[in-house]
Amino acid sequence: MKKHLFFGGIHPKYNKEMSLGVTAFQRITPSRVVIPLQQHIGAPCQPLVQVGDHVLRGQKIGDGEGLCVPVHASVSGTVVAIEPHPHTSGRLVNAIVIDNDQTDATMEPTPITAPLDQLDNDQILHAIREAGIVGMGGAAFPGNVKALSAMGNVDTLIANACECEPYITADDALLRSTPEQVLEGMTILRHVLKPSRVVLAVEDNKAAAIEKINGILKNYPGIELAVLPTRYPQGAEKQLIQALTGREVQPGKLPVSVGCAVFNVSTYAAIYRAVRLGTPLTERIVTISGEAIAQPQNFIVRIGTPFHDLIEVAGGLNEKTERVISGGPMMGFAQSDLSVPVIKATNSILCLLKDRNGAAENPVCLRCGKCVNVCPMRLQPLYMYRFVNAGRLDELERLNLLDCIECGSCAFTCPGKLPLVERFRKGKQLLREAKAK
Ligand code: SF4
Ligand code: SF4
Repeated sequence: MKKHLFFGGIHPKYNKEMSLGVTAFQRITPSRVVIPLQQHIGAPCQPLVQVGDHVLRGQKIGDGEGLCVPVHASVSGTVVAIEPHPHTSGRLVNAIVIDNDQTDATMEPTPITAPLDQLDNDQILHAIREAGIVGMGGAAFPGNVKALSAMGNVDTLIANACECEPYITADDALLRSTPEQVLEGMTILRHVLKPSRVVLAVEDNKAAAIEKINGILKNYPGIELAVLPTRYPQGAEKQLIQALTGREVQPGKLPVSVGCAVFNVSTYAAIYRAVRLGTPLTERIVTISGEAIAQPQNFIVRIGTPFHDLIEVAGGLNEKTERVISGGPMMGFAQSDLSVPVIKATNSILCLLKDRNGAAENPVCLRCGKCVNVCPMRLQPLYMYRFVNAGRLDELERLNLLDCIECGSCAFTCPGKLPLVERFRKGKQLLREAKAK
């Protein structure tokens, strides 16, 4: 494979070894789950159950129209509330609360057993939708809609296992344990999209996963393994496409504009389970890591498990904990309420003693230009920062602020310790509000 580079990027300390010491997964089944009715980009679900109803694990409990995928009960038990609940996004989101009856009584799975060449795309996309599959690398875009928009438009199908954020090892753990689920999921989407190239991309700091994949790759002819030099943020879609194909996705455009479709490896595994095992998305691998947690490791966690339950099973927080983040240290969201539940896109809970990306009390731009050199989207962070503070939406539009992927490379490099990403999130919100008007 010809190797390409993406523009910019950084090399933070990865700290991945911390959560890889415990190799066997512990499964977390909490006494109560909180299932938000919005876990995807698009329209929220409407509840299909009422308070007092008994539900089975895997039962569809919320669904909706348009850009929407259903949510399912992740335990069996009784619905005790349907109410707004704190969500990892920082908002209150309507959620279905279920008390676990500890029987794990489960809906009858509905696997599709016919060979792929006897299946049509509608059948497969329907199964993916009904299983509630969303992008599990963090984007949470409905999987069936993304696949549908790529049909007839892509020549390259990519499985993203870069997992370039420090600390997070959920995808690595998946590939070490069940790589065949990922490759089976890729085989299913290859059947739907008919690309000429199918590639599983992994960074070279995942030697054990690479060995596992190489051990079974001969069973999947036509699927290529690309081992890329580790560099942040290679796992961002546009950067990964550039690294693999040399193609650049232009500002405001999607990967499909350059003939590529990218899905995270956990999403492929979930697609396999949806189609071939007939099971909806009710659990996922979550990394819990950081210097402030007693026993960092990867867990298999039911969707809806409150963060505090998971933290307790991992030995609890150090009393000097400064920050708990949903996601990684670069792109994650700080959480002030640990009753927030694990959702479909939660790949990590990071517990830090010190917030290393914290801004200075009196930040000053030194006009050193380092932020410009590392920005993988070729943006101009120092000017964007200035214009967000000045409320100059016209300039922010001209500088393509909406193209910022909030990767944090600029803030990581900034010697002036400016709160760049925080300001860019604010600026993007202002721009979107202005456009909506
Ligand atoms: S956060 Fe935005 S501006 Fe900063 S480096 Fe990443 S893409 Fe560029
Ligand atoms: S890296 Fe920081 S200090 Fe340097 S130009 Fe960019 S914003 Fe200013």
